[in-house]
Amino acid sequence: MLKKLTRFYYPKTIEEACLHLGNSDHKTAILAGGTSETLRQDNTIEALVDISKVKELNYISKDSVYFRIGAGTPVQDIYKSKTLTGPTGDLLKAAAGKIGSTLLRNSITAGGNLAALFPWSDLPVVYMVLNAEVVCRKGKPKRTVPVQTIIDKKASQFLSAAEIIAEIAIPIYGKGTGTSFAKLVKTANDYSMITIATRVTVKAGRVEQARLAVNAITASPMRCLEAEKMLEGQKATPELIAETAKKVASSVSIRKDFRASREYRQEVLEVMFRRALEEALEKAGK
Ligand SMILES: Cc1cc2nc3c(=O)[nH]c(=O)nc-3n(C[C@H](O)[C@H](O)[C@H](O)COP(=O)(O)OP(=O)(O)OC[C@H]3O[C@@H](n4cnc5c(N)ncnc54)[C@H](O)[C@@H]3O)c2cc1C
Repeated sequence: MLKKLTRFYYPKTIEEACLHLGNSDHKTAILAGGTSETLRQDNTIEALVDISKVKELNYISKDSVYFRIGAGTPVQDIYKSKTLTGPTGDLLKAAAGKIGSTLLRNSITAGGNLAALFPWSDLPVVYMVLNAEVVCRKGKPKRTVPVQTIIDKKASQFLSAAEIIAEIAIPIYGKGTGTSFAKLVKTANDYSMITIATRVTVKAGRVEQARLAVNAITASPMRCLEAEKMLEGQKATPELIAETAKKVASSVSIRKDFRASREYRQEVLEVMFRRALEEALEKAGK
């Protein structure tokens, strides 16, 4: 476990962090909350760049279009945030509050949870259904990409050597939009067996936009595209909601592990998905 580690840097700015990361003399990695990086069996890493002291990565703010979350922000701050409100804020806080224990939430960061993409990672599905954008910085230069790009390519493949995830910008949704988050776990601290995030926007009694995603049941976060299409443009009747949930449960490729069989997860997924959709639609109607 990190047997070759000889250097530990505590940069104070993003530019300083990127300088260390770009130093090709040593194999270098970022340490954010450290909850997975320190457990990695990578004995080639020689230097760690701890970004926890970079203040410009730790904030939650709001402008007219986006909530902006610095990549180094602990997920506990998201859970407790007073800035995050409305359907967007509700979903972010619901997911953040269900991540592990308070101790873990104080360490796990908004950016680390996206960069280290595990089946049990809770925020990536939320970022996906909210159409989040990710701001990446390489020193001063920055580029903004849809979160789906980072999820599809994985941060470790997508980012260049001296580049970091600096911010997650999440559109602010208003009236007519409802969101929901659901997770099946054996205990509050256990890894998820099923994770669901939904966002629906309803206009004149019909679903204008549906964004539905799952994780844990699958190997990585996944949009439920067929189910989204079934809902969009339609009146969300109880029959359609039930059919949509059935579609999700029958179309995703379900993982199994020692926690639960594929069959059990499939049955529970259908029920949980129906309830999650009902919840989001009910909130959209308020
Ligand atoms: C017991 C336990 C239970 C857990 N339960 C849950 C759970 O229920 N739900 C959940 O979502 N998560 C859970 N996690 C956390 C999850 O497994 C990851 O460990 C966590 O999301 C990583 O975030 P971090 O901030 O700690 O990142 P680190 O461990 O510091 O880094 C992880 C990886 O991301 C890279 N990285 C970090 N920040 C950036 C950045 N800004 N830019 C580019 N790359 C970056 C690092 O280089 C590293 O490769 C749990 C962890 C533990 C140990």
